[in-house]
Amino acid sequence: MKKKDAIIILAALLAALALYLVSQISLGTKASTVVVLQDGEVLMRRPLAIEDEYEIRQEDGSVNVIAVEGGAVYMKEANCRDGLCIRQGKMKNAAKTIVCLPHKLVVQMEGDAPASDNSDLDVIIQ
Ligand SMILES: [Zn+2]
Repeated sequence: MKKKDAIIILAALLAALALYLVSQISLGTKASTVVVLQDGEVLMRRPLAIEDEYEIRQEDGSVNVIAVEGGAVYMKEANCRDGLCIRQGKMKNAAKTIVCLPHKLVVQMEGDAPASDNSDLDVIIQ
């Protein structure tokens, strides 16, 4: 392989990497944290990397079991009357939320960078 060819390949690789990084940042949906809200307040915050099941038990007897598995989150069990939260299936990115309306429970995902950081980035690009 000629030295010039090697440089071209390296440049192409770097360009691809840069493009990948930019797309990751601009999407802002690469989730790393699972957040559970109850009636608008943060009940718990857990890393997505840890596979586990969390049982949310409320005073009125409502129970929700949230499972984290293979980078996805889903409602495994719930004793709500509609069962819609279970039917919402697996959530893999921050664009989606799982809502259990009868229990006022919201499960969502957060990325590494908070939303305020993204607005700073916009300023730099301009
Ligand atoms: Zn439900």
